Amino acid sequence: MSKSEMTAEKIVEIGSRLYKRGLIAGTDGNISALIEPGQVMITPAGRSKDRLEPEEMIVIDDSGQKIAGKLRASSEMAMHLYLYSNRPDIFACVHAHPPFATAFAAAGISLNEKILPEIILSVGNIALTEYAPPGTPALPRSLDPFITDHNAFLLKNHGLVTIGSDLEEAYHRLETIEHFARISYLAKRLGGADVLDTDEVLRLEAIRKSTIED
Ligand SMILES: [Zn+2]
Repeated sequence: MSKSEMTAEKIVEIGSRLYKRGLIAGTDGNISALIEPGQVMITPAGRSKDRLEPEEMIVIDDSGQKIAGKLRASSEMAMHLYLYSNRPDIFACVHAHPPFATAFAAAGISLNEKILPEIILSVGNIALTEYAPPGTPALPRSLDPFITDHNAFLLKNHGLVTIGSDLEEAYHRLETIEHFARISYLAKRLGGADVLDTDEVLRLEAIRKSTIED
């Protein structure tokens, strides 16, 4: 099986996981992976991620021109291309509307409270962007202030985008953040979580950075 075929199968699998775990509804969400320098495989527009077929994947170049595929590429392809062009260290991107994380995005409440070591180790800081209409050039621009040093972007009044060195990492970050958003919500109902002290946060951040550099 070629790298392109394997990537198409993996995107289908991630789409199914997003849907089954309730992280998207209807035709929400989009998934992409860099298959060659300047070639991005991305999900088609307007299709349920639970029913994708590997043959439906679209390949676009770094200007958004279609190289392969019959369907129309995701309406958020500009956001995906923007992430790859600004982050040479990443190879995959997942966007969904997970309910707890999106509720924080809708309320304009960041998910940056340092409560759980796992989030600091596996994700790092989670950006909260300014609102930008979906599918417009304003959306990639809204990531700009955070692009160099964040792996997760909470899109105001919209949803969540995560990036990673492969599809598994980008997906796991999204799932982990949704779990964290749920815990944060519950902790707020209990009167608020105790935050980790600064020394511990710095120690955990140093561990994450050392694993990236290894
Ligand atoms: Zn969206």
